[in-house]
Amino acid sequence: MNSIELRRELHRHPELSFEEHRTQRTIMEALAAEGIACSPIAGTGVLAKIEGARGNHRRAVVLRADIDALPITEQNIVAFRSENEGVMHACGHDMHAAMLFGVLQALGRERDFEGTLFGIFQPGEELNPGGASLVLKERPFEGYDVAAIIGQHVDARLEVGEIGICPGMFMASNDELRFYVRGRGGHAARRGDVKDTVTAMCDLVVRTTALNTPDAVVSVGRVIAEGATNVIPDRVSAEGTMRTFDAEERERIYALLRANAKAVEERYEVEVEVDINRGYPSVVNDVMLAYEAMIVAADEGVAVRELQRIPMAEDFGYYTECYPSLFYRLGVGAAAGGSHTSTFLPDEAAIAVGESVMRRMALHILNK
Ligand SMILES: [Zn+2]
Ligand SMILES: [Zn+2]
Repeated sequence: MNSIELRRELHRHPELSFEEHRTQRTIMEALAAEGIACSPIAGTGVLAKIEGARGNHRRAVVLRADIDALPITEQNIVAFRSENEGVMHACGHDMHAAMLFGVLQALGRERDFEGTLFGIFQPGEELNPGGASLVLKERPFEGYDVAAIIGQHVDARLEVGEIGICPGMFMASNDELRFYVRGRGGHAARRGDVKDTVTAMCDLVVRTTALNTPDAVVSVGRVIAEGATNVIPDRVSAEGTMRTFDAEERERIYALLRANAKAVEERYEVEVEVDINRGYPSVVNDVMLAYEAMIVAADEGVAVRELQRIPMAEDFGYYTECYPSLFYRLGVGAAAGGSHTSTFLPDEAAIAVGESVMRRMALHILNK
């Protein structure tokens, strides 16, 4: 099987996060046919391992692809259209898995490198707690000196033949926020009898969005106060999202959210609860790896664009917390359309580009 055939096979049979059973089987069979050692990881993922012909096998490079699909009904008219109604590879993870397979296939045949090459086909990128956190919990690289973890993501804002790299802070952490205000409801005309939950929540929302800076997003998108023109409710709730680019800033805003809650409690004599559902950490690229990849890619004839950081989240952030890491974007052309839509269709011509960059980067680091 070649990588384009694998891509189409995965595209035809997409599976939701943490349900990638068939996907896991398909990938393990394809690897086994190449004589590449592999085992399940994180439930429905696959960990592949290839030892190079030379050198110290404790030194390792890890290549990572995510493999899950989304709850979307595909509208594309293609021969390999999704046969799993209501589920679609609408984020390009089929492409990521195919490219990782292509790289392992090529390097498995050559084995002309030093050290150990790992490939992670990772489940559940699209859903908390993120498959990356489950992979790391199994400590698959214990005893290895991991020189780099490298991942790529398709991107329709870049043309085929282009990659985008952002040295340093690249993608944001992503936390869900929920706020609850409890007070004493009652007749809206009897101001002295009520502890005004609605005004307290309004104040809390204003304080919350005042925490926005160029380095952090704090937004509230849902506020529910089910009183009436003349009824103050006992309870008001709100929901929002918070995104930051580094761990310190994240902790600083958590503390401010809690301080605001306390201030509002005291001012309005209500009870305020802030519930933070921690999502993925920010993706921070190793600066040296980023610049090395720029040189390696240019050497392969791939156009390199330096990207600005983006307020999107990726569970690849868990790897960047543990190891020197690089996550770059691979151009699939504007015609691919928007990711997470029913018509997203990346150009397969990008597969050869992604494979050449990933393969060359792995060899570059392993043979250093
Ligand atoms: Zn996605
Ligand atoms: Zn994705």
